[in-house]
Amino acid sequence: MHTASDILAGRGRRPGESDDPTSTAPRAFGVRRPVLQSRQVTARRPHHVFAGDRPGEACGVFGVYAPGRRAASLVYFGLFALQHRGQESAGIAASDGQTLTVFKDLGLVAQVFDEASLAGLEGHIAVGHTRYSTTGTTRWENAQPTHRQIGATSVALAHNGNLTNTADLAHELGVGSATTDSDLMTEAIARAVADGRSDGRGLELALVEVLPTFSGAFSLVVMDQGHLIGVRDPHGFRPLTLGRLETGDWVLSSETSALDLVGAKVERDVEPGEMVVIDAGGLRSFRPFPPARPALCIFEFVYFARPDSILDGRSVHAARQEMGRILATEHPALADVVVPVPESGIPAAEGYAQVSGLPYVDGLVKNRYVGRTFIEPSQMLRDRGIRLKLNPIPSTVAGRRVVLVDDSIVRGSTTRQLVQMMRDAGAVEVHLRISSPPYRWPCFYGMDTSDRSALLAARVALDDIADVLGADSVGYLSLPGLLEAVGGGDRSCTACLSGDYPTDVSGASDKFELERVARR
Ligand code: SF4
Repeated sequence: MHTASDILAGRGRRPGESDDPTSTAPRAFGVRRPVLQSRQVTARRPHHVFAGDRPGEACGVFGVYAPGRRAASLVYFGLFALQHRGQESAGIAASDGQTLTVFKDLGLVAQVFDEASLAGLEGHIAVGHTRYSTTGTTRWENAQPTHRQIGATSVALAHNGNLTNTADLAHELGVGSATTDSDLMTEAIARAVADGRSDGRGLELALVEVLPTFSGAFSLVVMDQGHLIGVRDPHGFRPLTLGRLETGDWVLSSETSALDLVGAKVERDVEPGEMVVIDAGGLRSFRPFPPARPALCIFEFVYFARPDSILDGRSVHAARQEMGRILATEHPALADVVVPVPESGIPAAEGYAQVSGLPYVDGLVKNRYVGRTFIEPSQMLRDRGIRLKLNPIPSTVAGRRVVLVDDSIVRGSTTRQLVQMMRDAGAVEVHLRISSPPYRWPCFYGMDTSDRSALLAARVALDDIADVLGADSVGYLSLPGLLEAVGGGDRSCTACLSGDYPTDVSGASDKFELERVARR
């Protein structure tokens, strides 16, 4: 058994190496008599204590290729840093060059894994996933990594994003049992691997063949017993970055901030449309897709990504502060204080305060430990709504005109409660300032907002939104202002704000379509 400090120090057993430190046994690379082990532990369904009305977050993916180290342990810490991207399930697949093992369950990373489960994930290659469901329900079968065994080859896949041709793909493959787009992708890849290649590059060649048949958003980390592969769809909707450990070994991560925790440095982004293959021969880059316009999700900057991450060369925190500065120029307010909605509203509120000259004060405190629980909250607690997550500080807002800065309004229910909370705490006026434009269009690329009728700005005229939310005024950042703040307008997806979808979404399915088909 290795302790967490052993793990971070790289004192795990090498693949094929004896626990005896004097052993000279060779490391076992390559594909030999693989045995896929997957464990299904008792599934417990986590409950949202308070889901709020933010768009559902994306997923987090992480991969490590590090000969001589326990890759799964590094992936564990990487997933820990990516927990904000998905809290429904977590999983890791690992290979020691011969055996590919998968362990996954519903719950947070720290709930799913302990030292015993990590000890069973041996080997120098590993991929991991934290899930927020955008296709399929929250159940063990839909947790990732997904996996298939094809003769001598085992494949595991972790996916961030959402396909927009899921139904077509399911029809073409004739798959009635796949319940998520990620499982469908794994099935398509497995079939291509099974098409009979024995030169050791089966997975690599299968991906080159199959990837162009996928449409929509997919940042993937994929592995077999001997390879770690990272893929970003041609538009690069979801981020994927490449890092290096101090040993020179490779790491793939949804966000740069997760590299910091495992001691890796940013090498570069995996480019939109790029596939990188990492094995004993080093790193190779492929371009399996026709060229396409880059379209990184602009909501990664607004809300999803951690503020300490770098996206497309731009600091997320700096971009959010700039959104606040521009917002103050576009929508000034006669007020006394600027109050952020923690936590993603904080940098924008700082920027707003800088430009407006109004004092920045903490008017809301976040209960940091509210998220998912395995104890079902009572109806009374549900009715308390946002107070489970945020509570006002009356001494900073009472008798004052408050500028309340938040990053977005999706359905509006949370925002209405926040405005009322400020009034209950004694604020005499509440002026809402939102550091993104009105969210009017559904997202089909990995955010859980496919029902347009639920979007506040799609059903209520702009002039009426302040009344609906109970605010004295509302000001949204303009789209040109947002593009200026992220510094890369022509490389962004803005579809939920503009209606301009970078891909054909006419075939996009709803979240549960595959499960309905599977039940027929
Ligand atoms: Fe992001 Fe909106 Fe595009 Fe979805 S539609 S990928 S949330 S910018």
